[in-house]
Amino acid sequence: MNLLQANGIRRTYGSLQVLKGIDLEVKRGEIVAIVGPSGAGKSTFLHILGTLDRPEEGQVFIDGVNVFGQKDKDLARFRNEKIGFIFQFHNLLAEFTALENVCMPGYINGQISEKDILQRGKELLDLLGLAGRMDHLPSQLSGGEQQRVAVARALLNKPAIVLADEPSGNLDSHTALDLHQLFFKLRNDIGQTFIIVTHNEELAGMADRRLIMQDGKMLS
Ligand code: ADP
Ligand code: MG
Repeated sequence: MNLLQANGIRRTYGSLQVLKGIDLEVKRGEIVAIVGPSGAGKSTFLHILGTLDRPEEGQVFIDGVNVFGQKDKDLARFRNEKIGFIFQFHNLLAEFTALENVCMPGYINGQISEKDILQRGKELLDLLGLAGRMDHLPSQLSGGEQQRVAVARALLNKPAIVLADEPSGNLDSHTALDLHQLFFKLRNDIGQTFIIVTHNEELAGMADRRLIMQDGKMLS
C-alpha cells in the first residue's frame, strides 16, 4: 500500500483553477521532489496534502486514512501526529530556545509525557548535529542551524510523512547541500518519507523521483 495517495485533486481560488486534477502516489521511505515554475500550484498542492487546506474535489489517503473524511477535531490531531512541515522560512518562535521550539508539536499533541517530549527533542537535536545549541534562541543560530531546528521540530511526533516547501530556498548553496544530505540521512536511518517542493535542481536530481508541476497539472 502507498503511504500517501492523492486522487484527482482540484482547487480553485475564485475563477482561478490552481489545481486541475492531480494524482500522486508515494511509497514509504521515498523522497519525492516536485519542481516547476512559480505559480504552478506547488504550495497549494502541498498544503492540501498536509491538510492545511481542502480540495474542492479529490481525496487524499495517508497511512490508510481518508484524511478529509475525518471530523475537523480528528483532522487536527491527525495533522499533528502524522505530518511534519518544513517551510522556506523556518517559522521558529523567536522567544523560545531551540529545544523548546523542537518540543512544541509534542506539547500540542497533549498525549506524550513532558519527560518523553524532552528526551525525544534532545535526541533529535543531537542527531541533527545541534547538541550544543539546545538552549540557544533562534536569533543566536545561523540560517542553516535554524533550518535544522525546524527539521527536528517536524520530526518530533514521528510523522508518517514530512512535507517541505522550498526548505533550502533561503540558504547558501553549501548550507543547502548540508540540509539536503540530512534529508537522505533521515531516510536511510529512520525510513523517513519526504515530499519536497524545490527550485534546487541538485536536490531534485538526488531524489527518488523528480516530478514537474506546471499550470496546475503534474507533467511527470
Ligand atoms: P507555487 O507554489 O507553485 O509558486 P502557489 O500554489 O503558491 O504556486 O500558487 C498557485 C496560484 O494560486 C498562483 O496564481 C497564486 O497567486 C494563487 N493562489 C495561491 N494561494 C491563493 C489564495 N489563498 N488566494 C488566491 N489565490 C491564491
Ligand atoms: Mg510556492
